[in-house]
Amino acid sequence: NPLHGAQFVLAAHRISQLPADHGAEVAFAGRSNAGKSSALNALTGHKGLARTSKTPGRTQQMVAFALPPLPQGEGGTPLQARLIDLPGYGYAKVPEELREHWRHEIDAYLHRRRSLRGVVLIADIRHPLKEFDRTMLEFCFQTGLPCHLLLTKADKLSRNQAAQALAAVRKGFADGAQASAQVFSSTDGTGVEQAREAVLALLQR
Ligand code: GDP
Repeated sequence: NPLHGAQFVLAAHRISQLPADHGAEVAFAGRSNAGKSSALNALTGHKGLARTSKTPGRTQQMVAFALPPLPQGEGGTPLQARLIDLPGYGYAKVPEELREHWRHEIDAYLHRRRSLRGVVLIADIRHPLKEFDRTMLEFCFQTGLPCHLLLTKADKLSRNQAAQALAAVRKGFADGAQASAQVFSSTDGTGVEQAREAVLALLQR
């Protein structure tokens, strides 16, 4: 697992505090409680990497994790790679002011961050494409960034229901958007390998 060995670097309140804008990074976004921390832990194979919690909307920061350098083509220098955990502001209990702050920071980050290669968006498969998710997809569409959607908590649905939800989400993608989606579960491991490959493909594109 090339995402194994991810290490906490820093937590930031604004994009100017993030690590130097070199190498390649993939950002993780999702509404509070969607299952983003659990997904990060599952993908990196670190149980405690990102904090998981049942109390959404507490301290919100952007968190940077460094990955071991990735091989890059033949004779290429190894790629400095990072994962960035973006705060989720979609949850009702997040105060309006804070939501506006993060909406603005995330917008600026997605538009200006040169090392950013793509976004992994995490949404609960039982109610995907809420306003937060649509905003993220729209930001990605505007900036030409690929977005890979993890429909998580798939263990809560039957296989058939999960497949239907996936098909419905894919139908909703805008024409020309670089958007993809898959079924995922941190709990039973569904789609974890597929998601790792998607993250690597984004980092190395
Ligand atoms: P975050 O706020 O998006 O980082 O969400 P967390 O990862 O903290 O998860 C929120 C809640 O959903 C926690 O109670 C998790 O145990 C639960 N959860 C996360 N992923 C899954 C999953 O794949 N399946 C199930 N059944 N529960 C999950």
